[in-house]
Amino acid sequence: MLSGTSILLFIIVITHYFLRKDKEQLNLTESIASNTNDAVVITNKDTEITYVNNAYEKITGYKKAEVLGLKVSNFKSGKHKEEFYKDMWQNINKKGYWTGELWDKRKDGILYPKKLSIFKIKDKFRKDNLKYVGIFTDLTEIKKEQEYSDKLKDYNMDTNLPNENLLVKLINNNINKNKESFYIMNFSIENYNSILLKFKSDHVFINFLINRIKKIVSEDDFIAQTNGTKFVIFLSSIKSKKDMNDFLNDFLHQTNQSFYIENKEIFYEIKAGIVNFPKDGKSPDELIINSYMALDKAIDTKSINYVYYDEYLKKNLQKETEINLLLRRAIENNELYVYYQPQIDSNTGNIVGAEALLRWNNEKYGMISPAIFIPIAERTGQIIEIGYFIIERVFKDYVALKHKLNEEFRFSINISPLQFNDKELIPKLKYYINKYKVDATKIEIEITENLLMEDIITINKKLKELEELGMTIAIDDFGTGFSSLSYIKNLNVDKLKIDRAFIKDYPEKDDGEMADIIANIAHKLNLNVIAEGAETKAQVNYLKTIGCNLVQGYYYSKPLERNEFEDYMSNYVE
Ligand code: C2E
Ligand code: CA
Ligand code: CA
Repeated sequence: MLSGTSILLFIIVITHYFLRKDKEQLNLTESIASNTNDAVVITNKDTEITYVNNAYEKITGYKKAEVLGLKVSNFKSGKHKEEFYKDMWQNINKKGYWTGELWDKRKDGILYPKKLSIFKIKDKFRKDNLKYVGIFTDLTEIKKEQEYSDKLKDYNMDTNLPNENLLVKLINNNINKNKESFYIMNFSIENYNSILLKFKSDHVFINFLINRIKKIVSEDDFIAQTNGTKFVIFLSSIKSKKDMNDFLNDFLHQTNQSFYIENKEIFYEIKAGIVNFPKDGKSPDELIINSYMALDKAIDTKSINYVYYDEYLKKNLQKETEINLLLRRAIENNELYVYYQPQIDSNTGNIVGAEALLRWNNEKYGMISPAIFIPIAERTGQIIEIGYFIIERVFKDYVALKHKLNEEFRFSINISPLQFNDKELIPKLKYYINKYKVDATKIEIEITENLLMEDIITINKKLKELEELGMTIAIDDFGTGFSSLSYIKNLNVDKLKIDRAFIKDYPEKDDGEMADIIANIAHKLNLNVIAEGAETKAQVNYLKTIGCNLVQGYYYSKPLERNEFEDYMSNYVE
């Protein structure tokens, strides 16, 4: 099809220029032809150029004087076969015109695509005087846009990696090629301290990481980016679980090495979910969904980097969905309780605090462990509502027990990262403090070490606000996360809480060295130390010798329901 402007231009050019109307009109035609954005080129019957307009000069880079007298074939790109031109000229001579897209060469030697229409014109007055008129537009920009939008559909522009769209196509191709077996690994960069860096460096880091991974991925395989920090590696060459395990070893080795950008170390964890074709799915969608399921499991499981998908995973997920629904009703149905576990001062032997720990007694399932339902509540966001329920309950219990507590006594409350980041946290705390007339200096907030991986400036601001309310802050599960000591040094915190993992095997399988190191760090940073999970006299004694100010654990007591806790305090003798 000829474009509208080409036809119009063509009509103007021939009716006036060739039919030799009066001079005034001829000038007008000239002026239209020379001012249009379409290039116009006119040749004699031997295809030697006799006229070109301004747009021609602009598009091709040639000046009029340089091309007059030259044959148009001088500008061939070399991209098209002889048949292409033969066919073109046959059309022109038979039908009187030809239109299509082709590549030509600019003066600077660069090839460019153009949409060209050529017309054969016979002179009305001199029949032997044959002319050809060519009208063309430069398609370079349009082609570029087209390529770009085609690319956008299939690629991530920052990393040049295939996106999910292309991933699905590529997996499909492989399934259709009757591939017997292959693996797909979905992986994610987690707990990433990107906010410490400028955005620009994020790409630097991700590209760096991808380049490391590319080294161990074979040529037939590819890496796709499904979202900013989530990727899928298609491993067509891996046929067995043993090979997959070998690959994982290489992969974790490559990705576990530290990175420095602008002298800052990048902290992150790699989590991966793995599926096998055809065992775990027959279609690209099924494979990808199941790989996400395995990835989610890996993300939720501390100190595990990867998870292979299997049927149990699916069943667990269904159970999780059910728990999630039951949990929605738990507050209204009065199924949630707060238990208290005493904390003992290792010098005086006094009970100087209690950690509030949530308990869920469900009609159908009985007691459900917080280790199971808290992570679910965190994923669904329900933890925020539950968290405020806990705060209010602890405040009420504090008021009821106040007269029995000694001067130093503090209640510590676990605050999940999601709730910590909730903008309602401080206003709500203020509201409850006023409502229940709580002395906020008797309240300690436990935040997990992993929270400190996030935007440290915002976190410190929040910590300051909590401090201004009078509360103290403990860093929970210390030693299991990835926080950097240099941050902790600058944070508004009071206590490190050594995770149970560092004491539970003492003395049989663990010499307690890690607990000792953590206690030392805390003392160097002028922080108090509390140890959790002490079950034996030997553990309590050891924790004392390494300088833990406070000890909590089954040795003293399990978490107790409020009345039991009250009895415990009344009967306690050190
Ligand atoms: P956590 O904050 O590290 O809490 C300590 C866990 O260790 C508690 O488990 C406690 O019962 C248990 N524990 C204490 N001493 C001993 C001991 O001597 N031996 C053994 N084997 N275990 C001991 P629990 O109550 O099952 O809570 C598990 C996790 O659930 C908690 O770990 C915390 O992360 C979360 N959680 C519990 N209650 C709350 C809550 O009210 N809010 C939030 N956000 N998280 C909570
Ligand atoms: Ca805790
Ligand atoms: Ca812990």
